[in-house]
Amino acid sequence: MVRTFIRSIGLPVLALFAGVAVFGMASTGVQAQGAKRAIEQVKGDVYLFRNNFHNAMFVVTNDGIVVTDPINAEAVGWLKAELKKRFNKPVTHMIYSHSHDDHNSGGQAWGAGIEVIAHENLSKNLNSGQTAAPTKTYKDGYTLKAGGKTFEIKYLGVGHGDDMSAIVVRPENVGFVVDVISPGRLPFRDFPRTDIAGLLSQIKAVEALNFDIMAAGHSKIGKHSDARDTRVYIENLMAAVTTELKAGKSVDDVVKSVKMEDYKGWISYKQFLELNVRGMVKWLKDSGKV
Ligand SMILES: [Zn+2]
Repeated sequence: MVRTFIRSIGLPVLALFAGVAVFGMASTGVQAQGAKRAIEQVKGDVYLFRNNFHNAMFVVTNDGIVVTDPINAEAVGWLKAELKKRFNKPVTHMIYSHSHDDHNSGGQAWGAGIEVIAHENLSKNLNSGQTAAPTKTYKDGYTLKAGGKTFEIKYLGVGHGDDMSAIVVRPENVGFVVDVISPGRLPFRDFPRTDIAGLLSQIKAVEALNFDIMAAGHSKIGKHSDARDTRVYIENLMAAVTTELKAGKSVDDVVKSVKMEDYKGWISYKQFLELNVRGMVKWLKDSGKV
């Protein structure tokens, strides 16, 4: 278990996570033993908690600590001990990005008395006992002021799920975005649990937010322009796959010809490209676009 507390972005740590990030999302089942965990400062009082392939943001305020996705109960246990050791302040709020259980299990492990904030669609999507129930829900947007920090929470609409929130923290101007954008990385596998047109509008909703640094649920720390870059990748992929399908090619031939060469330098290019193409083919066919 990695117990290193990282105050700045050390090169060895970046190398470590660049290495593991190519394998993408892990199931919660593999995290119980030998989980790789670390805390990385994003900016000012904003930190990213890394748990294997999943990240969650937390923010230290004058009054306590605001956490985001619990990931799972073991991850909460580790982070709880680290926060006590490093900051010795109570956790006052937890803000959920969305309901998917690989990010949002085990929230009860923080204990009672914490304000839990989520989009109003989230509760109906939780499995029984999955995580702590929200105590405060919102519809379009919600602003939390806590201990000298402002959290602008924004609903991103339907795409990757129907309960997705982005969070912008001020004064640091850090945006926390989960699954919709993974900076510098191809989208995960074959766009599971995602309507791709909806995903594009969720990304546009992120592009409309005002922030500088992107702290994301997967991959490396990015910047605002990673939203646009990801949208353009998906639009280019959609156009390329559409052209090939309209030319009458088989799915296997589409896979052979759509190589997205401009994105060779992105994380998980080799692992996810074919799956991205197959996911796009399926979505285009299922939605009647080809
Ligand atoms: Zn998700």
